[in-house]
Order: sequence, then C-alpha cells, then structure tokens
Amino acid sequence: MKTIQSIQALKSLLDTLRKERKTIGLVPTMGALHPGHLSLVKQSRAENDVTVVSIFVNPTQFNNQQDLQTYPRTLEADCRLLEAAGCDLVFAPSETEMYPEKDIRVFDLGAVAKVMEGKFRPGHFNGVAQVVSKLFYIVEPDRAYFGEKDFQQIAVIRRMVQLLNLPVEIRTCPIIREKDGLALSSRNTRLTAGQRQIAPRIAATLKESVTFAKGKSVKEVIDFVVDTLNRQPGLEVEYYEIVDGSTLQPIEKWEESTEPVGCIAIYCGDVRLIDNIKYKRITT
Ligand code: AMP
Repeated sequence: MKTIQSIQALKSLLDTLRKERKTIGLVPTMGALHPGHLSLVKQSRAENDVTVVSIFVNPTQFNNQQDLQTYPRTLEADCRLLEAAGCDLVFAPSETEMYPEKDIRVFDLGAVAKVMEGKFRPGHFNGVAQVVSKLFYIVEPDRAYFGEKDFQQIAVIRRMVQLLNLPVEIRTCPIIREKDGLALSSRNTRLTAGQRQIAPRIAATLKESVTFAKGKSVKEVIDFVVDTLNRQPGLEVEYYEIVDGSTLQPIEKWEESTEPVGCIAIYCGDVRLIDNIKYKRITT
C-alpha cells in the first residue's frame, strides 16, 4: 500500500494503472476509520482492480468550527487498518494541496440538498460537493463508494454527478452498527462513557418505530420517535423526518412513497449524531 500526499504524484500513478486497463474504485473519507469505512473498502476491492481511499478532513463542509477542531485525526492508525483491509493507495493531502486557493464554487444541488442536513447545516453540502468533485477530477474513479449512514449525502452526490456529467458510478453500502445497534461513526469516540451507554437508544427507538408504524400515520410515527428520544436525559433531537428515499422530500402519507426513510440528527450531549431507518411501505 502506498500513501501519497501530492495530487500530481497520485495522478501520474493512476494514469499508469489506467493505461494497464485497471479499474479504479474510490472511497472518500475523513479518516478516524472504523469498520463502516472498511466495508466500503471491501466492496470497492470486490468490484475494482485498484482501491484508492482518500483521507481528508474537509474544512469547507464544516459549518461549526468547534466540530472541525475536535474532529478526530488518526492517520497512522488509519493507514494500518487500510493496509490490513487490502487498500492499494491512500491519498492524504494537506489543506493547501486540496485548496491552494479558496474554493468559491457554488453548486445547484436542488431540492435534495435543501432539507434536513441542508437546512440545519447551511453550506455543508456545498462543501461536500466541492471536495468530492475535486476528488473525482483527481482520481477519475470508475466507481465511488458511499455509506447509507449519510443517506442524504448519497442523493446529493448523485445530483452533483448528474449536474457535472462525471463518468463515475456511485455505489452504496448499508450502515454498519455496533452490537448494541449504534451506527458506527468517527464522532462516537467523542462520547463519554455515560453518553455511550445512552446512544444505542437512538437506533433502538428507530427500530421500535418500524413496528409502531403499523396502522399509524406518518406524523404519529415522527412524534413517537421524537418524544421517546427527548424523554431520555442526555439526548436532544434536532430533527426527525420521514422522507421519500429518492427525492428526500418529507412525506405526509405513507402512500406518497415506495421507499420511506426516517432520518434523524440528534445531540448526545454535545456530540451530533445521525442515523436513519427504512420503513416498509404501509397503507394506513
Ligand atoms: P466520513 O469519514 O464520516 O465522512 O465517512 C466516509 C464514508 O464512510 C461515507 O460514505 C460514510 O457514509 C461512510 N460511513 C461512515 N460511517 C458508516 C457506517 N457506520 N456504515 C457504513 N458507512 C459508513
């Protein structure tokens, strides 16, 4: 496995591999890797000749400076995990390598980017589009891998790829969870022992809500999730929306969507976590 910091060096190595007709898979990450990231690497290895993992804590997608400063950075440990996972190339650029000048591009990401994370983290998805588009131009991957943990992000990336006519196939992987159900996240390392004990209530409540949903309206299910979690000391729901899995627009009636997905952002102490769950199509 090679670790490369320079765009030029990475591009020239990838050009050689492409001339040998090797297919390239890209897994964009911000590091502090866990088995969720490694599942994307595994998927990429199964479908491509070469797997590139990028590790870059992208400042332009943070709307909260404290979140950016406290974001875990564990490059050495990440490289050990990637080596063991069979990754071929790690691209770990510096901030000036990625942004020699301020990126002033503004993307029209449409309705998928205006709700939920788009509403509560202004500028977040524009920053994601900035960095992921740069990575796509640099790596020119055949396929790129994203986790369903960031469900809305997938729709935003698809929209960006369409907007820019980028020749890359977007592949998605299911959420990897701890044994107690908590969705793996780099931010979980910031939870105190007490918060770590409470956090599994999030996934448990989402799961319970699927059973609860039988015979209930969309609003009743939303209220169930929000009330159950807010009653738990130490948890505070920022939003819980049930949306259509393709358009990401909130639904009012189950009949409006063939793939309803519940998406949550919730504070566990001062750590902001996200998760989501798929509902079966239900007729009330
Ligand atoms: P991040 O480093 O948090 O920006 O995540 C990099 C990629 O890993 C994104 O596509 C995430 O959706 C994905 N990812 C993060 N956590 C998980 C998880 N628990 N299960 C599956 N994919 C994940």
